[in-house]
Formats: sequence, structure tokens, C-alpha cells
Amino acid sequence: MADQPHRIVIIGSGFGGLFATTALKYARNVQVTIIDRTTSHLFQPLLYQVATGVLSQGEIAPPTREVLRRHKHVAIQVGEVTDIDLENRTVTSEAPFGPDLVTPYDSLIVAAGATQSYFGHDEFAVHAPGLKTIDDALELRARIFGAFEFAERETDPDVRARWLTFVIVGAGATGVEMAGQIAELAHRVLPEQFVNIDTRTARVILLEGGDEVLPSFGGKLSTYAREELERLNVEVHTGVFVTDVDAEGVETNSDDLALRRIGAKTKVWAAGVEASPLAALLAAKSGAEVDRAGRIKVEPDCSLPGHPNVFAIGDMMTLQDLPGVAEVAMQQGVHAARMIRRAIAGKGSRPFYYLDLGSVATIGRYRAIASVGPIKLNGVPGWGVWFGVHLVFMTGFRNRASALAHWGVSFIGRERSERTITLQQAIGPMAARRAALYERQADLDEQSSA
Ligand SMILES: Cc1cc2nc3c(=O)[nH]c(=O)nc-3n(C[C@H](O)[C@H](O)[C@H](O)COP(=O)(O)OP(=O)(O)OC[C@H]3O[C@@H](n4cnc5c(N)ncnc54)[C@H](O)[C@@H]3O)c2cc1C
Repeated sequence: MADQPHRIVIIGSGFGGLFATTALKYARNVQVTIIDRTTSHLFQPLLYQVATGVLSQGEIAPPTREVLRRHKHVAIQVGEVTDIDLENRTVTSEAPFGPDLVTPYDSLIVAAGATQSYFGHDEFAVHAPGLKTIDDALELRARIFGAFEFAERETDPDVRARWLTFVIVGAGATGVEMAGQIAELAHRVLPEQFVNIDTRTARVILLEGGDEVLPSFGGKLSTYAREELERLNVEVHTGVFVTDVDAEGVETNSDDLALRRIGAKTKVWAAGVEASPLAALLAAKSGAEVDRAGRIKVEPDCSLPGHPNVFAIGDMMTLQDLPGVAEVAMQQGVHAARMIRRAIAGKGSRPFYYLDLGSVATIGRYRAIASVGPIKLNGVPGWGVWFGVHLVFMTGFRNRASALAHWGVSFIGRERSERTITLQQAIGPMAARRAALYERQADLDEQSSA
């Protein structure tokens, strides 16, 4: 029927999903449903600042309903997508409460992103959380600030040393940013706030399997980043692979015996990514291939082979060796939305072309690197570019204003205003241990009375 709206389902309210939705704002006669397991749009590049107490979670993850409140033709559905039926054109989602929902579509955009990869060792995750979600950032924040608190009340010097040792695995942007921030906490923010410990004795150890830090920048910028990290008292070790992780530390394959076993209570995993499981699901159903990171190979216009009305975009797809960065997801979101509008208008599809606007990574306060085409910047100019880019791309004026205030407090001043640890986080592990002890005692009592 001519006046039936064209039903567009978008999976994911991250960069790809949000930019696709906003690119459809003025499309006529469409009904958009955006499905995400969270209620917010997450600005992942600033997760490390939540994990280290600079920003609050609300500043980098505004509610999707608020962000899209002026998009009258958009319905928002909270739920985990568990199935996509390409033949009958439906998406199934589940939530902890309420029924499973089956949502029909005429066009589908899947922008479900990527998750942390432990290279076949998912058991490491318990001791070394990654940094992909707000939950991860709050967990790490509690572990990092908690480590200083528990070191303060520890009397055994060996255990105290383990509380004051932080190991970061992987020297990509996330690993470098986390290492730089934890070092700044130990050396600049916390020293005067503790009595029994000197936080400046904390060790921050960055382990990287490759030859250099920030390998995607390479050359002089990578060398600069390493030197600046070392100036911040971060111990950087390249060519070292982590082979095991437990509650008390990590093991590595290093030739240096001192690095074979590193005692550290706090570990951060920033070493690898793999595509959302929805990529494998779509590949199995469409006959498309996946690469080693589980990303689905899409057609030049980002659609699935044999399914011109279904698009996979952002971190979960692979096309022309494009990097897994926000800019790719945003531009592909806009492109997929345009291809759907063209299809509705009876026009043919067009290939996606990526406009590389450059990349930035920060090492610490006033220290960053930026690569924009032939222009390479470091130090304060690099940091200026980082600052501007992040301010421009943050969602919402209120979030920008509030982040500016927090950056002032943290970078000009010496404070971290967002370092709350909830009782659940601090006492929860203790309560769990006590419950396990009670359970064991009850078992023993039962056995002895039998
Ligand atoms: C710590 C960190 C730092 C980064 N720093 C930078 C940087 O400095 N510069 C840069 O360009 N890029 C950076 N990136 C990468 C960038 O954030 C990603 O490339 C970008 O977010 C990809 O966008 P996307 O839309 O593909 O996926 P995402 O933004 O990850 O969005 C995926 C969405 O899908 C939802 N979802 C997933 N599975 C399901 C499901 N089954 N059902 C329902 N919903 C689902 C998720 O909840 C999420 O909201 C960083 C990433 C991380 C993790």
C-alpha cells in the first residue's frame, strides 16, 4: 500500500546506529525502531575517563530517549537482539522482564559493535576486566581507587606492593590512556591524601605484544608516546605476551625473569576486540564470510550479500581494511540511511567511501598525539586537537558544559570528582567470600552429622 510507512529497524544505539537514525530525521513516510540492550548512547572514547574518576557515566552515556526526543517517527526498544530472520524480515529481542518481541522490518541496519577479545581465554575476564561498557568502567573505577584504599590498611609489605601494582595489557589507545591516567593518579592526584602509603611508589606496567606502543600511529608518534609514558613513570614493555592471569597477578612469556610473574591485584585488559556475535549470526544466515576478528564481510555499499535491504556497519563489519573507529561507524550510519532513502525513491545503491579525518590519542594531561593526513602533532598542540575533537563529538550541550567543568577540575586542578565506590562494589566481594565460607561450613556440618 502506497501510504504504509517504510519500517526501518536499527540495532545498536552506538555511533553507527545513532548517526543512521539522525540521518533519517527528515525522511518521509518512514517508521524507525532502534533496539539496544542499554538505554543510552555511549561515547566509548571517553570510557577511560570514567574508569579513572575524571568524568561521570552520565556525561558520556546520555539516555537515547533524550538524545532522540525530537525524532517523532523513532520508537526506542530496550532489549538484547537474539535472532534475525532474513527470510521473514523480523528481529527478535529479549529483556529480563516482559515477553520476547518480534519486530518486522522492510530495511535493517545492524550496528552492534564489538566486544573485548581474550584470545580464547575468557576466564581472564574475571581478574582483568576490559573497557567496553559503562559497567566495565565503573568496575575498573572501583578496582583502581579501591586498590589504594586496601593498600593503605594493609600491613604485609608484599601484599601492599601487589595492591600498588597496576598491569595494563595492550598498548593501543585504550591501554595507553589508562596507563597514563593511573600514573597521574598515583603521582599527581593522590599523594597527599594517604597516610600509610606513598602512592608515588605505585608501579604502572604497560605490556604490549607488538614492537611499539600505539602501533596504528607508528614512527615518531609512537616513539613520542612511549617516551611520555615513561616520563609519567609508566614501565613500558613491548614484545611481551601475557600467558596467564589470576587474582594476584599475571604471567608472561618475557625473556626478562622479573617479568615472568608480576604480582598485581589490579589488571586492565585492553588487548583485543572481536565483533558482536550478531556478525556470525548474519554471516551464517546470508552465506557471507567473517574474518579472524569475527567481522562480517559486506558489499561495497555495506549491505549483506544477497540482501540489499540489510546493512551491517561499524565495528562488526569488514570492508576495504577500514579501521574499527568511531568515524567509520558514523559515516557508514549516514551512508546506510541514504541507501535506504534511495531504495525507497526507486534509485540504485552506491558504494561507501570513507573520508579519513585523522586520529588522536592522549597520553596524559597536555600530552597527546594527532595524525591528520600529512600533519603529525604531539605535546600541547596534539592535546589541543584531542580536546577540540572530543568536545565537538560529545552528545548534547549539557554534557559538553559539564565535561568542561570536570576537565578544568582534573587538568588545571588536581582532583578526581567522580571516584565513588559503592558499598556493593567494596563490600560485595567480602560478603560473597563470607557466604561461600558459611556454605562450606554447612556442608561440613551436614557430612559430620550424617
Ligand atoms: C575504550 C575505547 C576507546 C575508544 N577510543 C576511540 C577513539 O579515541 N577514537 C575512535 O575513533 N574510536 C575509538 N574507539 C572505537 C569506537 O568507539 C568504535 O569504533 C565505535 O563505537 C563503533 O561504533 P559502532 O556503532 O559500530 O558500535 P558501538 O558504538 O559499540 O555500538 C554498538 C551498540 O550495539 C548495542 N548492542 C550490541 N549487541 C547488541 C544486541 N545483541 N542487542 C541489542 N543491542 C546490542 C550495544 O549496547 C551498543 O550500544 C574506542 C573504543 C573503546 C571501547
